Amino acid sequence: MTIMNKDVKKVLIDQETLQSRIKELGKEISKDYIAKDLLLICVLKGAVLFMADLAQNIEVPLEMDFMAISSYGNSTESSGVVRIVKDLETSIEGRDLLIVEDIVDSGLTLSYLSELLKGRGVRSLKICTLLEKPARKATDITIDYVGFQVPDEFVVGYGLDYAEKYRNLPYIGVLKEEVYQQNN
Ligand code: 5GP
Ligand code: MG
Ligand code: MG
Repeated sequence: MTIMNKDVKKVLIDQETLQSRIKELGKEISKDYIAKDLLLICVLKGAVLFMADLAQNIEVPLEMDFMAISSYGNSTESSGVVRIVKDLETSIEGRDLLIVEDIVDSGLTLSYLSELLKGRGVRSLKICTLLEKPARKATDITIDYVGFQVPDEFVVGYGLDYAEKYRNLPYIGVLKEEVYQQNN
């Protein structure tokens, strides 16, 4: 049996810190969405764990839908290519959308996605991301709710993958260099 934790160089955000911040975000969102028609949009696959925990901390009625957009391949570098892999099943006209993302790096993925959804006649559209990297400052996209700022390193865990692995780590961490070398 291979133990995953041995591949982790350091833990950036531990489980308790993640969960307590998600509680705060849930409270804030609950206040902002009283008497609205909240539809959470989970951006697959990275935001799945965050969305599941966040939704349980939101106290107003809501619905959920899922969308898959691809801007990265299996590598740690942005390909700059953004495409819809799975579209929404819900009609979003006149609804109050909250896009739930795992991490905003360049902002390319989210700016594409939010423009696309705005074009479908939503009443309002906000963005909630668990993590934000400094590179985001270069783009003009507004992020309404941010869990944590992270340094400009490739992070994994709590939904975020490297080559589709490590999503099940209950914390945000950085992998040892040798893990990447094995896959090259
Ligand atoms: P952006 O379009 O903002 O540059 O990139 C956003 C997407 O790239 C994220 O939703 C995520 O899938 C991926 N990404 C960016 N930085 C990281 C990172 O540090 N770790 C992981 N696992 N994915 C990342
Ligand atoms: Mg993502
Ligand atoms: Mg990925």
